[in-house]
Amino acid sequence: YLPHCTFNLNPRAASIDTPLHAYVPKPFVDHMHPDAIIAIAAAKDSRALTKEIFGDAIGWLPWKLPGFELGLWLEKFCVENPEAKGVILESHGLFTWGDTPKACYETTISVINQAIEWFERRSEGVAIFGGEVVKSLDASARRDIAAKLMPKIRGLISEKSHKIGHFDDSAAVLEFVNSKNLRPLAALGTSCPDHFLRTKIRPLVIEFDPAKPDVDAVIARLADDIAEYRVGYQAYYDSCKHPHSPAIRDPNAVVYLMPGVGMFTFAGDKATARISGEFYVNAINVMRGASTVSSYVGLPAQEAFDIEYWLLEDLKLQRMPKPKSLAGQIALVTGGAGGIGRATANRLLREGACVVLADI
Ligand SMILES: [Zn+2]
Repeated sequence: YLPHCTFNLNPRAASIDTPLHAYVPKPFVDHMHPDAIIAIAAAKDSRALTKEIFGDAIGWLPWKLPGFELGLWLEKFCVENPEAKGVILESHGLFTWGDTPKACYETTISVINQAIEWFERRSEGVAIFGGEVVKSLDASARRDIAAKLMPKIRGLISEKSHKIGHFDDSAAVLEFVNSKNLRPLAALGTSCPDHFLRTKIRPLVIEFDPAKPDVDAVIARLADDIAEYRVGYQAYYDSCKHPHSPAIRDPNAVVYLMPGVGMFTFAGDKATARISGEFYVNAINVMRGASTVSSYVGLPAQEAFDIEYWLLEDLKLQRMPKPKSLAGQIALVTGGAGGIGRATANRLLREGACVVLADI
């Protein structure tokens, strides 16, 4: 069925959400994972909140691993609720439908905007993430610490394959890392499958007090912190695995959160590291919404594992193009603006390296 849904000769594997569209008896169906909707979907009382915000226009279905059975649930809901314009899937996202692509699109946009406006009203005067408990360092100090710390992290997690890092100290990240509830919320893990496939279920929180900034102490502890994370990941794998589960993947954290400084993300290449960071910002937005109006609920470890190590997802990973020969490597090219230097830089880029140019 999945190859049948492929448009043209798109080599990418179809989304694991594809069968969910299959049985909805409407000409046009949209499926999205907007932050404001997942914030409702990941709240403890998401069913009641859906009813409160949308009345009977938008339905609600409990969490279910994406697949054909959930597709059949969606069909049943549609048939039994002919007036509904869509449905929120718990811990997952939004389905909407319509008779024309434009009508469907407009419903999607209006449902998302309705959720955003509702959150804005409900968040007024509420301490976000329990309020701020530490202050951000200034921008240049944040960058200095990132420059000092990121090569250390990279060294510690690149045993098997080289990683490239990305740094994000945007307002949304700082609000979260400086907050009272950083640790409990980070420990609950990201909820939307779309998010944690990129970010891993949990980030690593680097203990740091920006009021008494001691970066050397952080560096001294880093190897132990990273080893501890790997032990935790191994335990998650061991306790959730099935007889036919794929072998454990890289046990290192993808996301590193540091109070007062920001977020570092690491992956096999720069684009993936940046995208992983963007997905974690989505996860932060979801936790922000859900924890402001209710309690945020992460996905149970077994459910998360069953998606992360799903055979279908594994096949998708196996079909990914092989990394280029210099992926994850960093090259510094002196005299890189012209001549031999420039040609060398171009060649290194073609082979997948991350290239830094220097010239006079
Ligand atoms: Zn989805």
